[in-house]
Amino acid sequence: MIFNFTYIGKYFLHVLLPRTCAHCKEDLRYPDDGPLCPDCRANLEPIPELHCKKCGLPLDSGGGYCFNCRGHKGDGAADFAVSAFVFNPELRALIHEFKYRGRRGLAGPLGLELAKAYDRYPELKPYNFVIPVPLFREKETERGFNQSRLLAEVLGREKKLFVLEDAVERIRNTPSQTRLTKKERHANMEGAFKVTRPELVKGRRVLIIDDVATTLATVSEIAGRLKEAGAAGAAVFTLAREP
Ligand SMILES: [Zn+2]
Ligand SMILES: [Zn+2]
Repeated sequence: MIFNFTYIGKYFLHVLLPRTCAHCKEDLRYPDDGPLCPDCRANLEPIPELHCKKCGLPLDSGGGYCFNCRGHKGDGAADFAVSAFVFNPELRALIHEFKYRGRRGLAGPLGLELAKAYDRYPELKPYNFVIPVPLFREKETERGFNQSRLLAEVLGREKKLFVLEDAVERIRNTPSQTRLTKKERHANMEGAFKVTRPELVKGRRVLIIDDVATTLATVSEIAGRLKEAGAAGAAVFTLAREP
């Protein structure tokens, strides 16, 4: 008997892949839907035009800067940070599928969303060398991929930017940040990264890519190391921003 492996592959995919929305758990009606249903997908929230010029947080009113960045605009090593979406529950469910349930294929559509948002921020244009936030090596092996690297590769391909592979390394595994205060997060990240190939960043404007930014502790630490290594500038661009 000859097996049709394509057919068998599809059959198993159908059985294994969840056919409910990753957020609201409603049944997905069409094979191409998912991991979010159309309603949840429509609830993804782009960062509004009114956002802090330094840290990228949405603002309630004008003024250019959020309460934290006002007054001490030089705070943080990155030149500025911007994001594509607010980290709302729908996006949280989507990123969770991508990172923790091994749905590597989601890098494609999520990377395209990042590329679409890129066009809304002309200030990113001069930063044409891209560095994804590196994972600690063992963590990357365990997950099978670095989500930020996959996003950066799609962005680089779409927007003709150079992805600098392995210019920065995470030299220390850092405990999970989720239960830490802002101050603790910054301390937690100190000395976690090393620019292993300074010749790649010297004199260049670098764009640091991450999936989710919260306090910007991780990306600020990398921006600081890049500038020490001679980078002409370092800005941050993330898929999601958690207020
Ligand atoms: Zn849904
Ligand atoms: Zn701010």
